[in-house]
This record gives sequence, structure tokens and C-alpha cells, in this order.
Amino acid sequence: MLYGAIEAGGTKFNLGVGDAKGNVVKQLAIPTRNPEETMNEVMAFFAGFPITSLGLGCFGPLELNETSPHYGFITTTPKKEWVSYDILGTLKRYLGIPIAMNTDVGAAALGEITFGAFQSEQTLLYLTIGTGIGGGYVINGQIHTGLLHPEIGHIHINRQPEDVHPTNCRYHENCLEGLAAGPAIESRTGLSGDQVPDDHPVFTLVADYIGQALATCILVVSPTKIVLGGGVMKRTFLYPLIRQSTLTHLNGYLETEALQHMDTYIVPPSLGSQSGIVGCLALARSAECLQ
Ligand code: ZN
Repeated sequence: MLYGAIEAGGTKFNLGVGDAKGNVVKQLAIPTRNPEETMNEVMAFFAGFPITSLGLGCFGPLELNETSPHYGFITTTPKKEWVSYDILGTLKRYLGIPIAMNTDVGAAALGEITFGAFQSEQTLLYLTIGTGIGGGYVINGQIHTGLLHPEIGHIHINRQPEDVHPTNCRYHENCLEGLAAGPAIESRTGLSGDQVPDDHPVFTLVADYIGQALATCILVVSPTKIVLGGGVMKRTFLYPLIRQSTLTHLNGYLETEALQHMDTYIVPPSLGSQSGIVGCLALARSAECLQ
């Protein structure tokens, strides 16, 4: 049995074919162009494989309410050509197989808890911190959705008093993504991401804001494991700074074993950059019972 996987990101689409155990047998990354060109490449890739179902982890925001006439649409993305695009319906029409869909970060969270090092966890929160910031939460084997899906990148942050730099979010003056994602780091320093030195004070600020957001997440959904991925987190010195900042913002309120072992509580992805694509395989496996 072969499954298809699409990790649809704003800059690239990661396409994969694999099995029920999360083994990827073929993988291809293509640049995200306009919907028509991108979908033509997607179809050309899958034409060579007898896949029986597909998992789609997509950039958003998305409409994931199955009762909505816009179920499976990308909604208000800054990528203009993809606004209100029916990505799920298009794939279903082309492929004619069951498809399960969630956010790209939801898929990454599912990948880590299904096929990664965290299979014994009840719950897992995955945050990607890169060009944007997104979060996915898995509870009892399911990616959490509700009204729409979590948008952890846009939760409120209390700025440090001296921080008056303009936000990078067009919706919020004080949200995590606007203050701490890759573009915020670049605009704060005037340097391209790779050129910012590790000892630049911007990282102390960023770690404080991420820790603040994680403290909020811990208080709201009580995750048993927190995984931080994305381009910004390739700076591995950020992990200890963020762990400390999280504890500072919790300020001793919660007493539990995990918080005494922060190096195993807030961790890098165990699957590296493969969390998303194998998460899409897990979605594809769940899609077999659809339709
Ligand atoms: Zn925002």
C-alpha cells in the first residue's frame, strides 16, 4: 500500500510517496509558484505511483470545518494567487482518492508523535519558527482543530519596555510572529538571517518572546512535549535560552516533573526536516477510511 504526502509550504511544496510505517520511498521538493503551475507539477509527480490515499499538510490559514462550503480552501494568505484557493477540491478532482488535510504544522506535530521519538506522549505541541510562526497540537492521536485551527504565531506578547521596533505582522502590533519570526529578526538587525551573529542581542529578545508564548501555551493546553522546529531554531543555542525564558514566565506556578527537566521537555524535532512529510503519510493512512 502506497500513500501520497504533500507538505505544501509558502516557498516550496514537498511531495512524497511512502508506506504506513512512515518510510518515504520517493521525495521531491518543488518551488511554490501560482496554483495552476504548482498543481501541474504535483500531478506529474503522483502520476508515476499507485497511491491509494493522500495526506495534505498545507500553509494557511485554512478552512477545516467540514460543514463549510469552503472546506479545504486556503483562506486569507498573504500569497495573493492562493487566496480562497480550493486546494483540497482540486486535488480530489485530479486524483480521485481519499485525502485528509490539516495545516503544515499540524502534520509536523502528527509526524513527530506517530513516527518520531515521542510516540509515548499523550499530547505534543509543535511550533515552527522561521519565515512565519505556526503551531500544531496533537491530542490522543488527533491534530486538534476547532473553530479553525490553532494560530499560535499570532498570540499576544508583552514587549520588553525598550522594544519599540515596528511589528512585522499586518494585523497585530504585539504578536509573536510579528516580533520574533525570521523577518522580524532581519528588520531588527538590518541583516539577512544567515548574517546575524550568534551573539547578537536580538536573540535574547527573541528567546524571551518565544518563552513567553510557550508559557501561555503550557497554561492553556498543558502539552506533555514541546517540539520547536523551523529555520530560526537551527541556532541551537536558542533552546536553552527559550527553556529558561519559559520557566521565568511561568514563575514557579506549575510544579511538575517535566518542568524540572526542561532539556527533555522543550526539544528539537526528532525527525529533523522530515516531520511534516511523514506526518502527511500518517494523515494519508487516516484518510483510508474516508469517502
Ligand atoms: Zn499577528
